[in-house]
Amino acid sequence: MTDRLTAAARAAQANAYAPYSGYRVGAALEAEDGRMFAGANVESASYGLTNCAERVALGAAVAAGARRFTRIVVVTDASSAASPCGACRQALAEFGLDLLVEAVAADGSRQWRLSELLPDAFGRADLPT
Ligand code: ZN
Repeated sequence: MTDRLTAAARAAQANAYAPYSGYRVGAALEAEDGRMFAGANVESASYGLTNCAERVALGAAVAAGARRFTRIVVVTDASSAASPCGACRQALAEFGLDLLVEAVAADGSRQWRLSELLPDAFGRADLPT
């Protein structure tokens, strides 16, 4: 059974803009209030400007006023489930390390807490006061 968050991530994946890598990714982020925000990766001819699906979803959520999140689902067509990249882990950590992260691929899915993926995370407490 596919839950609504996974379905939203798959729908976003269909709109991924990945003409260079062909690696199409969709993500859907669930806010504590039940709202869902989807994102897809957006590549650029200037490769370094590429945005991951996770951060696109996060940006949409923040723009809509959401700040507290419970779960993110990331879907790819890869053979094995891939966890979010380091930049996305750090960006998501800004809003809490209890986030449940689920990666879905052809061979099934894997789950982690964000705190497992980014131990000893850098955060606002590390900034000078
Ligand atoms: Zn990423």
